[in-house]
Amino acid sequence: MTMTVESDIQFLIQMAQKDLQMKENKRILETAPLTIRKLEKEVSDMDERYTEAEAELEKLKKEEIRLDGDVKDDRAAIVTKKNELLIVKDNKEYAAKTSEIQFLENKIEGHENRGLEILTLLEAEKKEVAAATEKINTEKDTKLAAKKDWEDKIEEAKATLARLEKERAGTLPLLSERIRKRYERILKVKGDSGVANLIGAVCQGCFSRVPPQQVHEVRRNDTILTCEACGRILIYFPADQEPKS
Ligand SMILES: [Zn+2]
Repeated sequence: MTMTVESDIQFLIQMAQKDLQMKENKRILETAPLTIRKLEKEVSDMDERYTEAEAELEKLKKEEIRLDGDVKDDRAAIVTKKNELLIVKDNKEYAAKTSEIQFLENKIEGHENRGLEILTLLEAEKKEVAAATEKINTEKDTKLAAKKDWEDKIEEAKATLARLEKERAGTLPLLSERIRKRYERILKVKGDSGVANLIGAVCQGCFSRVPPQQVHEVRRNDTILTCEACGRILIYFPADQEPKS
């Protein structure tokens, strides 16, 4: 075992751990915007539900007032026409007045039926407004807080990534030239890392199975091997040394 191989392996392990943390933080950056949009949609849906129910309620109240007004006017008109009936001059005029009165009475009946419908609808709409208000009161703040949390997570992840990137750049020159070039070459191709740790016999870079003899050699940490499937440099560190993100 040479000092170079040993120190290379130690630095590679450090870099692999940073790369894993970077991967986790990149995952947050990828998924958080969708979660935030979902939360925003849920909040706007509950606001919209309230606004719609409130508007519908107002519409029904206005219709109720309009119907009441119409009925009052029609009743007054009937009274006038009934008085006029007393002074009609012939049967033809009498028949015409009577038919006008009948028409107004039918109209009033129609309005009154609609008035009853509106009472039922108003009752239902008031319940809908109350339900929408209740939902806003109990859930909106939680959703907005969750959204803020995710926005903070994005900022944290960005800061962590920048720090890890800097640390990785600082560790890179400590590797022997041959290994550094290999790492850089694979990083460029793979995008995430030039090194991968083994868990059991599985390369964590590409999740293919590594032959037992190679696993044995990698776990000894005294020689540098690459994954035959993905080309990443293979290293081993015990599971309890895996970085927590
Ligand atoms: Zn691999």
